[in-house]
Amino acid sequence: MDKEYKLGSIVMMKKQHPCGTNEWEVTRLGADIKIKCIKCGRSIMLPRIDFNKKLKKVINY
Ligand SMILES: [Zn+2]
Repeated sequence: MDKEYKLGSIVMMKKQHPCGTNEWEVTRLGADIKIKCIKCGRSIMLPRIDFNKKLKKVINY
């Protein structure tokens, strides 16, 4: 499974967002990763280690 991602990549997480979609855009890369929900536009930030654990797959590198 390919789990490489970069700024602007579209990713799928293991848990979907309450709004019903499960596609996120990577909007910040660093010690913390920021992802934005494609559907509702909400952003969440999480430590890279947690992001890697919760990442299911990269949809669009
Ligand atoms: Zn959402």
